[in-house]
Amino acid sequence: WRSRDFSWTKKLEANNKKVFGNHSFRPNQREVINATMSGHDVFVLMPTGGGKSLTYQLPALICPGITLVISPLVSLIQDQIMHLLQANIPAAYLSANMEWAEQQEILRELNSDYCKYKLLYVTPEKVAKSDVLLRHLESLNARDLLARIVIDEAHCVSQWGHDFRPDYQGLGILKQKFPKVPVLALTATATASVKEDVVQALGLVNCIVFQQSFNRPNLWYSVIPKTKKCVEDIDKFIKENHFDECGIIYCLSRMDCEKVAEKLQEYGHKAAFYHGTMDSAQRAFVQKQWSKDEINIICATVAFGMGINKPDVRFVIHHSLPKSIEGYHQECGRAGRDGQRSSCLLYYSYSDYMRVKHMISQGAVEQSPLAMGYGRNMANSGRVLETNTENLLRMVSYCENDVDCRRLLQLLHFGEKFDSANCKNTCDNCSRVKSFVEKDVTDIAKQLVELVKLTGQQFSSSHILEVYRGSLNQFVKKHRHETLHLHGAGKHLGKGEASRVLRHIVIEEFLVEDVKKSDIYGSVSSVLKVNESKAYNLRSNRETIVLRFPCPA
Ligand code: ADP
Ligand code: ZN
Repeated sequence: WRSRDFSWTKKLEANNKKVFGNHSFRPNQREVINATMSGHDVFVLMPTGGGKSLTYQLPALICPGITLVISPLVSLIQDQIMHLLQANIPAAYLSANMEWAEQQEILRELNSDYCKYKLLYVTPEKVAKSDVLLRHLESLNARDLLARIVIDEAHCVSQWGHDFRPDYQGLGILKQKFPKVPVLALTATATASVKEDVVQALGLVNCIVFQQSFNRPNLWYSVIPKTKKCVEDIDKFIKENHFDECGIIYCLSRMDCEKVAEKLQEYGHKAAFYHGTMDSAQRAFVQKQWSKDEINIICATVAFGMGINKPDVRFVIHHSLPKSIEGYHQECGRAGRDGQRSSCLLYYSYSDYMRVKHMISQGAVEQSPLAMGYGRNMANSGRVLETNTENLLRMVSYCENDVDCRRLLQLLHFGEKFDSANCKNTCDNCSRVKSFVEKDVTDIAKQLVELVKLTGQQFSSSHILEVYRGSLNQFVKKHRHETLHLHGAGKHLGKGEASRVLRHIVIEEFLVEDVKKSDIYGSVSSVLKVNESKAYNLRSNRETIVLRFPCPA
């Protein structure tokens, strides 16, 4: 797809320069454009700031007809339209909270034979709830004027993702109604299972996937045990390493944001807080002050961050445990856009885990704006709760891991292999752990595989671990798993050891994570299944598993 021999190549390059003012293409932009313009369904994983918009705006400009863009937030849409209109590209959007007359005018324009719009943006609920819109799209399609369908922030389709939006699941209807129109799905964050789920839900056919490395070499990662002196530590860290520089401190609750900001002010920092209960004018004011460097530090919930393009964020500190590795990676990703060295600190305590878990079950955690408004009633119901808990547990095992390269762990989560030699001591584990003991964990692995089999290959990794460690929680009892001979077989193992082994055998594909659709909720969750051919090697001692553990000092 890198070829410059397509019939549109000259036009593409000319318009990239003339209309968008770019001298060249960024990684994968040309490839994505060529693939979608060849008529294929395409899935794009590109880090935030990578330049996803260009991959559909440029084709929209040079193809006949209209490009339909599904985007989750009206504020993001308005921002995009403003930029398009500045570049003289006619674009419009439809949203439910628009004046009816205004909507009518746009629909009328869509009906006209010489429709001027090149792009039409809509929110996902518009597709789910508006027959009028669908009828207009059908009419456009009948006149060969529906050029392309773009799904922005496509990970919102999946309940596995951290920003699930039920309305996104209804978008499958687009491919059903318009099978010939190429779909372009874009996201900055998706694990392999989220990707699968999105492709399936949207009904993409022979989809071409473009994926870039998620590694951010200029970010330095560490996890620090959280104590009562956490804010003092943060103060010291900033003064010593990032004096007068700018950063974000992510806090769990609104109250935490305010308390941390207040304390930092007492220590002499120019800090402010930002969370979902502030009204939009207040929030915009704080964000502006921060953008203009009038304040250095924002103490915020995950509500802060969408569409932030500040290049010189020098540190992102997590005052408490993030809810998922995807969320964590994305939040850290707001640091160091300019490529300069930046710090990512995570303060971890097991009691925070309990607290986050409780808040998730109550539906009380603040959501990122993408999922906002849905989290409250969704987050604590059935499968979604299980998924959220699973995501949280993975975050916990990331924090508890004191051996492996942080980069390697994060990237594995996105299905990317990383050689920790390339970390070059830019994470706490790589720079601290100089020697290891190697331990043969084959027997533990065998037991875990057997346990997955014994329980009928229909439970999540967290449940398997609970049973293995001898838990007697309600769910264990409900399934009578305390009666299995392997119940409690891993009791003697050190904290985190069993989960490291389990994670390892999933990574090495002795076990596979299977997306399971639940009939009751119509949703998905992950269950462990045995990969028989690999597991056979284990049982018959053809493979052994050795893991490294840090040397006791
Ligand atoms: P994403 O949606 O992937 O986060 P955007 O599409 O918003 O990223 O692009 C991020 C920034 O990069 C924008 O300011 C955009 O103008 C700029 N940009 C995109 N493509 C190019 C390019 N080929 N050359 C220079 N700048 C680009
Ligand atoms: Zn490392």
